Amino acid sequence: MDQGGRGVEQPSEVDVVIVGAGFAGLYMLHRCRQRGLTARVVEAGDDVGGTWYWNRYPGARCDVESLEYSYGFDDALQQEWEWTERYAGQPEILRYLQHVAERFDLRRDITFGARVTAAVLDEATGTWTVSLDPGGAVTASFVVMATGCLSSANVPDLPGAASFTGPTYHTGRWPHEGVDFTGQRVGVIGTGSSAVQSIPLIAEQAAHLTVFQRTPTYTVPAWNGPLDPAEQAAVKADYAGLRAANRAMFSAFGGRIPRRDQAARDATEEELDAEYERRWALGGLPFLAAFNDLLLDPVANETARRFVIGKLREIVHDPTVADRLTPDHVIGCKRLCVDSGYWATFNRPNVTLVDLRETPIETLTPTGIRTTAADHDLDAIVYATGFDAMTGALSRIDVRGRGGQPLGEAWAAGPRTYLGLMTHGFPNLFLVTGPGSPSVLANMIEAIQQHVEWIDRCLGDLAADGLQQIDADADAQDAWVDHVNGVAGATLFPTCSSWYLGANVPGKTRVFMPLAGFPPYVEVCEQVVADGYRGFRRR
Ligand SMILES: Cc1cc2nc3c(=O)[nH]c(=O)nc-3n(C[C@H](O)[C@H](O)[C@H](O)COP(=O)(O)OP(=O)(O)OC[C@H]3O[C@@H](n4cnc5c(N)ncnc54)[C@H](O)[C@@H]3O)c2cc1C
Repeated sequence: MDQGGRGVEQPSEVDVVIVGAGFAGLYMLHRCRQRGLTARVVEAGDDVGGTWYWNRYPGARCDVESLEYSYGFDDALQQEWEWTERYAGQPEILRYLQHVAERFDLRRDITFGARVTAAVLDEATGTWTVSLDPGGAVTASFVVMATGCLSSANVPDLPGAASFTGPTYHTGRWPHEGVDFTGQRVGVIGTGSSAVQSIPLIAEQAAHLTVFQRTPTYTVPAWNGPLDPAEQAAVKADYAGLRAANRAMFSAFGGRIPRRDQAARDATEEELDAEYERRWALGGLPFLAAFNDLLLDPVANETARRFVIGKLREIVHDPTVADRLTPDHVIGCKRLCVDSGYWATFNRPNVTLVDLRETPIETLTPTGIRTTAADHDLDAIVYATGFDAMTGALSRIDVRGRGGQPLGEAWAAGPRTYLGLMTHGFPNLFLVTGPGSPSVLANMIEAIQQHVEWIDRCLGDLAADGLQQIDADADAQDAWVDHVNGVAGATLFPTCSSWYLGANVPGKTRVFMPLAGFPPYVEVCEQVVADGYRGFRRR
């Protein structure tokens, strides 16, 4: 029997092909095995980890606390693993996933270094043929796309990009051996989460750092540090309790710092200030749960926005730089960043902020970046330009369902799914954290586990009922897409140009892709099963 690894010498026929070996693919494989199904994971990278395999830039870490950003499906696993920091860095999260792979002996069913290029349904046999690069194919009754919401790097097509003679890096494809910027003039393009995490560390190392900012970002402090062993022990004493509390939270994390059940609109100035100060001092994303209307009501949102901008102006010494760093959109409608010294970095004498709204990039040159105002000489360029989120990885696979229809065609006007789990016309092809599910608006590990467990149960129920195939019903899917849009429309999320909407990728259809609200979503998923897979066709 093969031992996993590169190449495609593994079995060419299995029950389930799983694409991707991140948190989602690894757990899916484990559940398939437990169910007695044969499964093969295909992973483009050379090891497990997904996000945490690829994103090795300085400062890469989670922004949901590690005690919560981890699997809860196996109590022995969660008891034995010791997190060292409140927000673990990339190396530690990668070690954790490698540990999981070893603990559950997962690698022997994973083909590494192989990219899935196509998945084509054979309607006569009801099977999928999954083609691999560098060659070979696997046939399966079921395909699970565990390809990741943030796995497809987005590199802007800047004029003259190829002419730059120095090295360029994308934060999501960082060299394994690391990069030493000592003595160099470095340019970072972008100011989203990856930039916010990496900029303070690059600035410490580089001779000079120039940050090219298109849209200023909001950020709250992480106050990261070593995890208090007593805190870890207390969580482990009732880990199930914390996981359950998290699943009851709107975004499936922060169960220890619940959302305040009060509207900012109804709060006094003193109450607003006290709660925002308290949450600023606690740090992290629960800042946005300070009041229950912050993402619903622009007036409420403005109170949080004002508070954070006040902090920005306290931190950044130069008022002109502070002005340039001040966002004007709703706070939280783009993913809120969690930082360790981001704004303070702009006080350093070796850091320059270039506002691309004032002085856009004209072209890259052999020696740097030319804006409408100046030539910036650089030795290296870092693209912190994020991802073609949620649909990017799928759109790079030639997926063909009934009648040979390409998924790209079915999703031409934006992704259409039922529950974010399946798309009509693509039977037996499941998505983990697909568009139309809480996914990136939730603690993704909770979202992944809920999806994997749902899919696993669905496969079990099909077999128990003597059936072979499941497909989303077109009407149910239409209604679900309307529902997702309706929920988004009732929030402030669609009010700015975010990657949730696909707005960071030129030409991408603008549709709000994730579904806000984890607990009501889970309730629907459960009810659908209780109603005999309502909205699905099984045969
Ligand atoms: C820097 C960073 C920090 C993050 N922090 C948090 C956080 O704190 N909290 C949170 O909830 N979420 C966070 N996320 C989101 C994160 O992506 C998820 O939490 C989680 O890791 C996703 O796991 P996954 O298995 O679904 O996908 P991924 O980890 O993205 O894995 C998908 C895998 O599929 C593989 N793949 C894709 N297409 C193909 C193909 N065609 N053929 C073969 N293989 C393919 C990829 O190589 C990749 O390894 C963060 C993301 C980033 C980038």
